[in-house]
Amino acid sequence: MPELPEVETVKNHLNSLVKNEVISKVKVMWPNIIANINYQDFETKIKNQKIIEIKRKAKFLIFELSDFYLLSHLRMEGKYILKEDDFLGKHDHVVFYLESKKILIYNDVRKFGKIYLFEKDIDIYKVKPLSLLGLEANNSELSIEYLKTKFKRSTKPIKTVLLDQSIISGLGNIYANEVLFLSSINPYTKANLLDDIEIEKIIKYSKEILDKAILLGGTTIRTFKVHDINGRFQNSLNVHMKKNCPRCNSLIKKDFINTRSSYYCSDCQKIKE
Ligand SMILES: [Zn+2]
Repeated sequence: MPELPEVETVKNHLNSLVKNEVISKVKVMWPNIIANINYQDFETKIKNQKIIEIKRKAKFLIFELSDFYLLSHLRMEGKYILKEDDFLGKHDHVVFYLESKKILIYNDVRKFGKIYLFEKDIDIYKVKPLSLLGLEANNSELSIEYLKTKFKRSTKPIKTVLLDQSIISGLGNIYANEVLFLSSINPYTKANLLDDIEIEKIIKYSKEILDKAILLGGTTIRTFKVHDINGRFQNSLNVHMKKNCPRCNSLIKKDFINTRSSYYCSDCQKIKE
């Protein structure tokens, strides 16, 4: 699953490929991908729209078009591919024909990804799905007070709470494992038991890790590979998919917490009760 740094890489890549291109025609092969309007309207509205710029909010790509915003969430396996010919593969679900004769394809093996289209006079940050997002993990406004209010109400394991996009957005599974390791917090510790110092560590390391991962182009592990661009953050991982703790050499534990693989050192990350 691409996380925030990987989506940032995709965004930069897309800007270099299709910025200022005009969409002459769109074909939706799998209508369920289009989330908020019917696919025929989507095909009609997008005709002759220019791609002004591609932005990102948390894990959403935001294509700014002449009259619309197109929001795209890649979920598990979604990716964009630029082709020169229109030979479509089995998993090519939305096809954007560009005036330059290039073809931009949204490909998604699992079909979990979603595409939304909004008129430009709407403040897209104030409507679903973007309005549901909490502050981004590397946002300078992320404060102890903000997280304390959110954590106070939760008796769930902190690992699960860090993945809740309505609290902190853009911190995916790999990065949450890494943040908890550097903060010396056990993933099972209930969110409401964390003190200010621990919350401060979460903020510090979330920012540090995401900024570094963005700089390195993300993390490439199996299906995390995006658009054939290799991220390099996997070389900076401390605990995710590791055998031994880099601090104390104890065996790293792997558990599934709320179905997500959680790697931690039970010696360096003591549970708080
Ligand atoms: Zn350790």
